Amino acid sequence: MAYRLVEELALKRRLDTDSYRTLITASANNDAVFAHLRDKAAKTAITKFGYGIFIRGLIEISSYCSNDCLYCGLRRSNIEAERYRLSDEDIMECCATGYDIGFRTFVLQGGEDRALTDDRLIPIVSNIHGKWPEAAITLSLGERTDDSFRKLFHAGASRYLLRHEAADESLYNSLHPVQMSWSNRISCINRLIGIGYQTGMGMIVGLPGQSVDSLIKDLSLMEKIQPHMIGIGPFIPHRRTPLCNNRPGDIRLTLIMIAISRLMFPDALIPATTALATVSSTGRKEGILSGANVVMPNLSPVSTRHKYAIYDNKVSSAAEAAENINLLEQELNRIGYRINYSRGDYNTDINHEQI
Ligand code: SAH
Repeated sequence: MAYRLVEELALKRRLDTDSYRTLITASANNDAVFAHLRDKAAKTAITKFGYGIFIRGLIEISSYCSNDCLYCGLRRSNIEAERYRLSDEDIMECCATGYDIGFRTFVLQGGEDRALTDDRLIPIVSNIHGKWPEAAITLSLGERTDDSFRKLFHAGASRYLLRHEAADESLYNSLHPVQMSWSNRISCINRLIGIGYQTGMGMIVGLPGQSVDSLIKDLSLMEKIQPHMIGIGPFIPHRRTPLCNNRPGDIRLTLIMIAISRLMFPDALIPATTALATVSSTGRKEGILSGANVVMPNLSPVSTRHKYAIYDNKVSSAAEAAENINLLEQELNRIGYRINYSRGDYNTDINHEQI
């Protein structure tokens, strides 16, 4: 039964709710079904992208945040968090270092820092764009106004990551302060797509209170919105948050969601996330073998990396560090893959370079 559902999903790119439930439960409990699902997902990615894995240089530009998400170590109530904000020069230096290593995508990520106004961000984006026009600029700076999204797009940003975090509205509400609204988050994602951004969404797997049905809602929401990029990682507790005593998300369930997402969206850019690499030393590799085709090494200044602590023990060394690109290449080679140094836009011919 579950095997047939894998075939059906690969063919139709969607299942009904009961079938998703059957597939998720069977994959969680039966090793052979799990292996079959991952295998099908990995093969789907190989058919689209070959054995090349895209790389994105992640620059964590600010650890200040005016939000208070219950799971995140950067929440404003965490008075012990070390706060920093990179200068324009720091950011340009990170890009220059990354460009020399071979990165052709820079991801500027940060908390919802009130100092990151349009007046401050637009020159940063346009300077990067002006200096390295062949590189893609991805932003991951939380919810902003429509006007701001547009201005940043026109300044040269072409991609935006804004995970929906939880499609189940009551689950979302239980994990976010009342000032945040599920509907605004979803409307930001829709607006980003409308503006023309390659847009990423995604969820945290294993959030306290999350059920299999919540995860199915995540799949249905993504089916409706059709994102270009999908970030899925396990929940990892942070000791200075209200969720500190909760268990981390299950790695197997995370891999199941990655594999299902790959079968639903063969063209999507799906990272093997840092959270996956943090919960298991083989997490990155397992992500790729479940259909992921992107990794996002850390390109932040080494001195600030430990301060961008969204969860405990976040890895930023070894193959997770941009400067150790050789280690990443070796790690990929061991499973038959290699780095694809091209920009890796959504669904363009560039994706098929170096297959
Ligand atoms: N402020 C930006 C970037 C947030 S950090 C935004 O709101 O989009 C990037 C992602 O890290 C978040 O979207 C969230 O999904 C993830 N994250 C935060 N805390 C986490 C935790 N404790 N465990 C796992 N993932 C977490």
